[in-house]
Amino acid sequence: MAKNNIHGYYNNKTAQIGKDFNKLDIQTNLNVRKTNFQKAQNVNNTENNTAVQNTENNPEKVMAGLDSLASINRVAINRPEAKKEDFALNLSTEELQKRTDPDVLVTTTMLKPGAEQYEKLADGDKEALKHLVKAGKILENIHLKLDNENNIPFKNFLEEKAAKGDKDAEMSLKLFNAQKGMNAIDTESNMVELAKGMPEPEGKGFYPQDLGTEEFHNILINMLENGEKDEVAQILNQRSVVVRNGDKLEALDYTEIYHEEFGKMADELDKAAETSTNSDFAEYMKLQANALRVADPMADAVADKKWATLQDTPLEFTITRESYDDTFSTSISENPKLSKMLEDAGIRVYAKDSLGCRVGIVNKESTDDLLKIKQFLPKMAAMMPYNDQYEQNIKPEGDSKQTMVDVDLLMLAGDCGAYRGGVTLAENLPNDDKLSLSIGGGRRNVYHRQIRLGTTPEKVQQKLDAVLDPAQHKLYNPEADHWFTIGHENTHSLGPTQGREKLGKYEAIIEEHKADMGSISFVDMLTEEGMYTPEQREQILVSYATDNFLKAKPELSQAHRVRSVMQTQFMIREGAIEVNDEGKIHVNIDKVVPAAKKMLAEAVRIQLSRDVNEAEKYVNEYFVWDENCEKVAENLKSISKKLNGNIETPLADQLAAEADEKAE
Ligand SMILES: [Zn+2]
Repeated sequence: MAKNNIHGYYNNKTAQIGKDFNKLDIQTNLNVRKTNFQKAQNVNNTENNTAVQNTENNPEKVMAGLDSLASINRVAINRPEAKKEDFALNLSTEELQKRTDPDVLVTTTMLKPGAEQYEKLADGDKEALKHLVKAGKILENIHLKLDNENNIPFKNFLEEKAAKGDKDAEMSLKLFNAQKGMNAIDTESNMVELAKGMPEPEGKGFYPQDLGTEEFHNILINMLENGEKDEVAQILNQRSVVVRNGDKLEALDYTEIYHEEFGKMADELDKAAETSTNSDFAEYMKLQANALRVADPMADAVADKKWATLQDTPLEFTITRESYDDTFSTSISENPKLSKMLEDAGIRVYAKDSLGCRVGIVNKESTDDLLKIKQFLPKMAAMMPYNDQYEQNIKPEGDSKQTMVDVDLLMLAGDCGAYRGGVTLAENLPNDDKLSLSIGGGRRNVYHRQIRLGTTPEKVQQKLDAVLDPAQHKLYNPEADHWFTIGHENTHSLGPTQGREKLGKYEAIIEEHKADMGSISFVDMLTEEGMYTPEQREQILVSYATDNFLKAKPELSQAHRVRSVMQTQFMIREGAIEVNDEGKIHVNIDKVVPAAKKMLAEAVRIQLSRDVNEAEKYVNEYFVWDENCEKVAENLKSISKKLNGNIETPLADQLAAEADEKAE
C-alpha cells in the first residue's frame, strides 16, 4: 500500500497518503493468445470452475481460473467511445484561470536533464532508462482507459481545440494532465469535472458506464443461479474490464483488452534488459516482459517475486497495481444474499487494479538510512496486537524478506502519478491480494524523494504559524514525516493478511489506519533501540499530529484522509491533542503513543472480525469532522491556495524523445 500525501496542503511533502502498492498483482500480460487460448479451451468446463478464489492458499486454482480467462477472446470488445461532438468544457474561464494558477496547481519537478544522479550512471543504464520511460508513457494511456473510457477521446478533443488557440481548452488540458483524467478530487475534496454533463461513472473505466451497483449485484446473482461460477469469478478478479453481453456481464482480462500496449511495453523492457548493467535488474525486466506477453498470472507472480528482491540495483522500475478505485466490488460485502452465494461458490471478491508506472534511480545514500529499520522488523512483528491469531508477512523471528529503496524519480505515470488532492509518497508492494506472496515472494518498499522534498522552509514556517502552538514549532520537522512514512509502509507488512476484503468499502480505510497507528506505536521502542534520538521521537509525534489535520472534510472514498480524521478525533478524546479557540494545535507528546496503541489494537481486531458492520461502526464512531477540525482547516486554507498538483518530468520527456528519434 502506499502512503500518499494527504496533507496536500503545503506542497508535496505532507501530501495525502496514498496508495500502497500491494495490490498490483495479478495483472498479467496477454500476448500469448494462441497457446493460452488453447489451454483455456482444454480447461474450460472441467473442474476449474472455482476460478480465482483464495489466491493466497491456492495458486493452482487461481491459475486455472485465470487460464480460462484467455478464452474470452471471443467476446467482442465493444465499448462505444464518445465522439468529440459529445464534449463541451465544464469549467468557466474564471474557474480555469483560478485552478491553473501556479499557487493553486503546484508543480513538483522530477529529475531534470543534467541531474547528477543521472550523469553518474553507466552508459548501459542510461540507455535502459530511455526504454523504461517509453514503457511508462505507454502505460499512461492504459491508466486513462481504466479510469474512464471517455478520457482519451476527451483528451484528443482538448488537444485539438488547444492547438487551434482555444485558451479554455488549453487550461482544461493542463488540469487533465495533472489529475490524469477528466474527473478527480482536489485537496479540498471537491470533485473537479472537466467535461460538461459527464460526471465520474460509478464503475470508473472498469465497468459499463450505465451500470449501477444494484444492477451489478442482481446480474451476479442471476449468473450464479445459472451456475456461471467461472464467469462470475472472472468478473470479480483484479485484472479484468467488465462489459455487457446481453443481460449478462463478461470479463475481459487486462492482458487481452490491452494486448497491443502491453506488447509494446514488453518490447521496451526487453531492450532495457539488454543494456542494463545489473544482472538482477535485467532478469526482472525479462520476467516482467514475459508477464506482459502471456495470459498467465503465475508469470506476474514470478516477476513480482524477483522485483521484491531488488535491493542493490542502479535503476528502479515498477508497474504499480493498487485497488483503491473500484467501488463496485467493495459494495458486495453490503449485500448479504450475494455475499453468501459467492462464499458458497468459493469465489473471493477482489477490487480491480488501477495501473501506474514508476521510473527512477536508486539513491544509495538515503537508502542506507532507510535500511536501519530492517533489523527491528521482527521486534515490530512481535509487538503487533493479537499476533497469535494470524500469520504475518514478517515473522517475529527470521528473515524479513523485505527490501527498501529511496528513489530519485524520473516519472510517476498513470495511477501512481495522478495528482488527486495528493500523490504517492511511498509504496509497499505487492499488496496482500497478489499471487507472488503465496509462492514465497517478499515485499519491497519504494520511497519517492522528489515528492517529499518538494516543500520549502518558508512554507513550513507559514504552516506552523497558522496552526501549531509556538512553543512546539521547534519540534516540527518535515523530515520526521519521512520517518513516520517508513513506519507506515513497514506496518503494511505486519498484521493479518487474510479476509480483509470482507470489510468492503472500509477495507482500505482500516488498513491505512493500521499502518499509521503501527508507525506511531513503534516510535518508543525504536527510540529505546537507538534508531531515533529522544528529540527525533518528539519531532515524529508532533509532526504527525500536526500533519493529520486537513483542509476540508474528506469523502468516505478517500481512505487516506478519512483515517486522518479518525485519528485526530481519537487523539483529542484521549487528551493527546488539544485545539484552542484560534485553531492552534498543542500536542501532549507522552499521550500520543499510548493512544496509537489502543487504536492499533482496535484496527487489528476489526480486521480479524472480517465483519463489515464492525468496520462501519468503528469508522462512524471516529470519522467525525468537528469544530476543532474546522478551526484548523480555516487556518490551513488561509495560508495555502493549493487545490491540486502537477508533476513535471523533464528528463523522462527528453529521454523518450531521444528514444523515438533513434527508432526512426
Ligand atoms: Zn499505506
